[in-house]
Amino acid sequence: MKTKLKTIIAIGLLASSQAFFWSCDDDDASVSKPVISDLEIGLDDSHKAYVGSDLHVEAEIIAEGLIDKITIEIHQEEGGDDEIELEYDEYEGLRNATFHKHVDIPSETVPGEYHFHLTVTDQEGNQTSVEEDITIALK
Ligand SMILES: [Zn+2]
Ligand SMILES: [Zn+2]
Repeated sequence: MKTKLKTIIAIGLLASSQAFFWSCDDDDASVSKPVISDLEIGLDDSHKAYVGSDLHVEAEIIAEGLIDKITIEIHQEEGGDDEIELEYDEYEGLRNATFHKHVDIPSETVPGEYHFHLTVTDQEGNQTSVEEDITIALK
């Protein structure tokens, strides 16, 4: 009888210490936000794209809350309203993924300095975004 009670207390302590650990998270979510690493934009991470060509994009993604969707947004840094927006949903449900895509840079794109955003949204609604500067040049 005494032993049983001890076991119950031990389980209770374990559960509450885990709850404490989770509550240290940024937004009180039960899972960590997606993690984006080893981002490579352009061949050899050159951060260079060419009008009328495609841009190589690769990244390692870990999403504890499982991937919902991955989006890429490329927009001009100032002035202009050239914008490329893409959404990929084929990674849905994965915890680990190597994201590898080639983004078409339309031939009417104005060359210049652009912002590149890669955003991963998990199934819990957590989002992680990375932002990089890239140059779009004429071929
Ligand atoms: Zn590639
Ligand atoms: Zn931006």
